[in-house]
Amino acid sequence: MEPTTFVLFGATGDLAKRKIYPALYNLFVDGKLPQSFSLVGLGRREWTDESFRANVEQSLRQFSRREANDAELVKRFVDAFRYCVLDIGRKEDYQKLLRLIEQREEALGAPPNRMFYLSVGPEFFEPIAANIQDSGLGSAQGWKRLVIEKPFGHDLPSARDLNLKLSKAFDEQEIFRIDHYLGKPMVQKLGSLQQANPVIQALWTNRYIANVQITANETVGVEERAGYYDHIGAVRDMFQNHLLQLLMMAAIHLPHDSTSEKVRFKKKKIMEALEPVQKQEVGASVIRGQYEAGTVQGKPVVGYTSEPGIAPDSMNDTFIAARLLIEDSYWRGVPFYIRTGKRLAEKSTRIVVEFKEPIKAASETSEEGATPNLLIFEIGPNEGITLQLNTKDLEHEGEFKPVHIDIDLLGGQDNVPEAYENLIFDALRGDSTFFAHWDEVELSWQWVQPLLDAFEENLIPLHSYAAGSYGPAESDALLAQDGYHWWFDVKPEQQIQNREGEPYAYNANH
Ligand code: NAP
Repeated sequence: MEPTTFVLFGATGDLAKRKIYPALYNLFVDGKLPQSFSLVGLGRREWTDESFRANVEQSLRQFSRREANDAELVKRFVDAFRYCVLDIGRKEDYQKLLRLIEQREEALGAPPNRMFYLSVGPEFFEPIAANIQDSGLGSAQGWKRLVIEKPFGHDLPSARDLNLKLSKAFDEQEIFRIDHYLGKPMVQKLGSLQQANPVIQALWTNRYIANVQITANETVGVEERAGYYDHIGAVRDMFQNHLLQLLMMAAIHLPHDSTSEKVRFKKKKIMEALEPVQKQEVGASVIRGQYEAGTVQGKPVVGYTSEPGIAPDSMNDTFIAARLLIEDSYWRGVPFYIRTGKRLAEKSTRIVVEFKEPIKAASETSEEGATPNLLIFEIGPNEGITLQLNTKDLEHEGEFKPVHIDIDLLGGQDNVPEAYENLIFDALRGDSTFFAHWDEVELSWQWVQPLLDAFEENLIPLHSYAAGSYGPAESDALLAQDGYHWWFDVKPEQQIQNREGEPYAYNANH
């Protein structure tokens, strides 16, 4: 890894504290930071180097997956940290920053390789990029990279506008758009599982697969993000970015020698093959919902419009389910069902691949109890892959029962790297495989834009659902139209606990 100066905008913020410092610390412990590594934290708060380091140490104690109790190790880690007061709108502050970075590079004898990490609100992305360029921070002899958080635009025109502005200061290969779902260990295994295993590769087509279900359920409501969320909804917050990325990763067919360029090319092809929906026809394949009062994890909760900070007549979506079709030779005729929402029965992100049932001769009787074969990817908070097969039920003559084979792709590791560790490590190495390329972002917004328009113009109903359920009944009906159902939606009494101790529906061993 090349010597790097990590320039962190938003160093005093929540994301830095909860995710970025713990990720950097764990990379440090694993020996995965560059030998010569320097971090400059930025914010308006009048912190000193010492108070900055004390805050970083505090965040490690609170949020690191590994306990940060070795004082000597922690000290060596934070020694690389400096703080600089900077107001994003003040040009002179960038000159001060440039001088500090040059001093650090000189002291360390390091080339000017600079990674600018924007952990700030999206309204600041463009002014920061422009100021990096104007100040000369980005024009040194080394490399420069821009790591940028979501959201990337709030619709197709605003995303295009932002991209145009950023591209004045950074080339596409210098921009690393974070979608933290792409950093999750199981998501990173999705493409390679199929790529490295001819058995799975052979099955990964419409010949054997009946449908694919992608679910990202949350139990939380809007929390303290009410004002923000009420203008965003599930469609922008989760669907356009994380869930379409999961769809691309599930549908991808990778060649053996796949480079980051090939992965991006293949993902783009999938997005291009997605059958577009017209604004007037959104209702045929998209369900939107909003939660009403109900019970989540045994506790009564209020409905969305009674949440503090939400307008009583808000028509915002807190749930979305959709059927998407990929018009290519691999996936023609295989519906991809996607759903996500807040205040649902369980917290889980999961992909279920349902295989076709064998075609039976008219004379054959159906096997009682036989269920379709499934391949289940548990992405979070539990992680794992399970294959569901049928076996003869020895206790009930002539009947079948499902059995489950757990595939341990994470090598028995319990304490796996967090998404942010994987992503920051890749950005430091300049590997953009698991970042969202502009083509994907633009095509995602392009697919979603008719939905945004239909929602805005109230062309489709806003269905209500009880908090603690699996969303509106219409979401079940969407699959029932095609003869399918969502897998693993179980009643509260059938739930088990996930690894965070919360109720969890899926239990392969039941
Ligand atoms: P936050 O807690 O509100 O922090 C915002 C940061 O921006 C603070 O460090 C603040 O520093 C800095 N800032 C604001 N105005 C500034 C200005 N004019 N000049 C210089 N610095 C300024 O926000 P956050 O939760 O960390 O989120 C940061 C970004 O990550 C957002 O784009 C968010 O959408 C995205 N994100 C966050 C999460 C999460 O879990 N928090 C998850 C995914 C994505 P001072 O107050 O010291 O100026």
